[in-house]
Amino acid sequence: MKILVSACLLGHRCKYNGGDNYSETVAALAQRHQLLPVCPELAGGLSVPRRPCEIVRGTVMNDRGENVDGAFRRGAAICLQKALDEKIDLAILQSRSPSCGVKQIYDGTFSGTLIQGSGVFAELLREHGIPAADVSDAEEALAERRKGHGSQADQADKEI
Ligand code: SF4
Repeated sequence: MKILVSACLLGHRCKYNGGDNYSETVAALAQRHQLLPVCPELAGGLSVPRRPCEIVRGTVMNDRGENVDGAFRRGAAICLQKALDEKIDLAILQSRSPSCGVKQIYDGTFSGTLIQGSGVFAELLREHGIPAADVSDAEEALAERRKGHGSQADQADKEI
């Protein structure tokens, strides 16, 4: 399968604080799948390091109260286009990010409080019908996609 992944999960140091979210599970997927790492925040022109950001009443803001929504949405659109061009089968994304979060995000108060919701990139993928899974659900999502694709996906896995 062709799987788009949050670049920080493969060890790219693109997190706001200059770190990464390296995941052995995700890195191991490269043995059987084609992985496409993207970082929507860097794609949108943001730098490393950068201020932490959260979605505040629908607008992405940093912890200084500056509006960074344009950069987030620009980066999400660029990465969406890549997903469409590459005809990806699945996206596996980092948890809780205001860009990549699939199930939960911080509530916009910069107090560490989580709420149900998605980051702007994950939401954009969903709007375009592209399946996206939180990294904690990667194995289940892969199994689900395999079922959906049947032998076609199995064959593709063998070819990659
Ligand atoms: S935007 Fe996504 S890929 Fe980039 S650092 Fe944040 S979680 Fe990782």
